[in-house]
Amino acid sequence: MENNKKLKIGWFSFTCCEDSTILFTELLNKDYDEWKKVVEFRHVKALKTNNTLDDLDVAFVEGAISGEKQLKEVLEIREKAKYIVAIGACACTGMPSSSRNQFTDEQINEKIDWYLKHFDYSDKVKKLEEVIKVDDRVEGCPMSIPVFMEILTKYLKLFNII
Ligand code: SF4
Repeated sequence: MENNKKLKIGWFSFTCCEDSTILFTELLNKDYDEWKKVVEFRHVKALKTNNTLDDLDVAFVEGAISGEKQLKEVLEIREKAKYIVAIGACACTGMPSSSRNQFTDEQINEKIDWYLKHFDYSDKVKKLEEVIKVDDRVEGCPMSIPVFMEILTKYLKLFNII
């Protein structure tokens, strides 16, 4: 009998350059026909406007957390997803997005200070693990594609989809 079960995934981006999101969409150029048989793209803003943030098997999260609004969003993702995979160096280590954490008071000039005061920026930029529990990591800047594929396969097996 055919197994119609699909892995319900979400893909999210926080403070970062979104290079791993670009890599992910590039992979879809090649793999979409195969993936759509086993993956439900439940919340992927890079692919569609109608998204559902609920009942996710795996959430892939790119980027570091740099403000209160992002913190609230990522806590909600943690609540709605069974597993969280940190994608890329910014999510896994904070850097390079967290380089402003190292600014000395003298380095924070008027311009930087204006940005910090006028946008939703917390004192420190944090890696994912500092704010939520992370189950897996795909290191690299941008992410390592072989490791990403390995982890995707791991979850497809874990949920008895392949
Ligand atoms: S890890 Fe590198 S490629 Fe990924 S978002 Fe951060 S800066 Fe961009």
